[in-house]
Amino acid sequence: MRAIIARRPMPQPLHRAARFVAVALAGCFAIAAACGDAPGEGGAPRRGDRFQNNYVEFEPKGLGALLSWKIDASREGLPKPPQQPTPRVAPDLAFLRANATAGAAMVPAVTWIGHASTLVQLGGVSLLTDPIFSTRASPVSFAGPARHVAPGIALAELPHIDAVVISHNHYDHLDEASVHSLAAQDGGAPLFVVPLGVKAWFAALGIERVVELDWWQSARVGAVEIVFTPTQHWSGRGLGDRMQTLWGSYSIFAPDFQVWFGGDTAYSQDFADIHRRFAERQNGRGFDLALIPIGAYEPRWFMRAQHVDPTEAVLIHRDLAAERSIGIHWGTFELTDESLDEPPQALARAARQAGLADDAFTVLAVGATRRFAPRALGPTSAPP
Ligand code: ZN
Ligand code: ZN
Repeated sequence: MRAIIARRPMPQPLHRAARFVAVALAGCFAIAAACGDAPGEGGAPRRGDRFQNNYVEFEPKGLGALLSWKIDASREGLPKPPQQPTPRVAPDLAFLRANATAGAAMVPAVTWIGHASTLVQLGGVSLLTDPIFSTRASPVSFAGPARHVAPGIALAELPHIDAVVISHNHYDHLDEASVHSLAAQDGGAPLFVVPLGVKAWFAALGIERVVELDWWQSARVGAVEIVFTPTQHWSGRGLGDRMQTLWGSYSIFAPDFQVWFGGDTAYSQDFADIHRRFAERQNGRGFDLALIPIGAYEPRWFMRAQHVDPTEAVLIHRDLAAERSIGIHWGTFELTDESLDEPPQALARAARQAGLADDAFTVLAVGATRRFAPRALGPTSAPP
């Protein structure tokens, strides 16, 4: 490691080391090997004091593999700068605020704030996914992946938030400053719904309105049921806590709208499992909307076991039998080797090759809201 680092001049060695560690911690970098374990029916698999995936056994490779990747990327000049900035539009704040107070008349709507942060309005509830409004996805303020596009809605402009779901504790999904601000919002803190093991992190910040869930457990906010469901990923905010807290996705059920939020994930059988598990409840249909990560996938030798690429994102859309999907987790933080603007282009190609309808799986501009027709209620109104 010393020989590799010594190739380059290091005028600010401490700063550089901190930046390296920040990048390592902020991204989602582990290596996995195949595993034959059957999925746990009761919750996430455990190995001592750590969690495991249903279909893959993670074996973090450590700094050697990370260095090898970073040296290759540096040699090849990756990631290349994007040719287009991430599209951003002014949010429709008047609609979002009126919708937040509409109760049962709330129009199902999703607004992309950036990265994996979305504002989901359904069943009378305004809910945020993995909120990050900070300028870096990092444990330190001076280093680590920087934000390339401002949040689609500023924290101060948000409507009152009823619930926040956190998929896992990586820095680009669990941001301390954002959580602090949301906990202090006018009208009281939202309910934070978090994976097993993450409640203690909130308690250390003095935030108590938190429920932590194992896979397949659920929390209720008004008319909305939030079920924590599997993904294939991992967790950790430092070098010593890898996989000690759980990771996952959320299957969110309102009377008139059903959303799946993917957080971070590789491709696995977990999505077919989720569809099977909820098939009866969904009257033979899938989710009305899936929010599926499409970015942070290169190089594949490093990322395949933890992040899907757009082709695999299309497989998740199909496995969930989602009516519509929106690609998230791209265009905001430069975490990996593909250009910031590549994921939506690759998604369009993959969706076309899979024969999806033009509007089945698309992306939003940062700040844009998409409204949805309410889901048809009851078996008699389900499509034939
Ligand atoms: Zn992650
Ligand atoms: Zn991520």
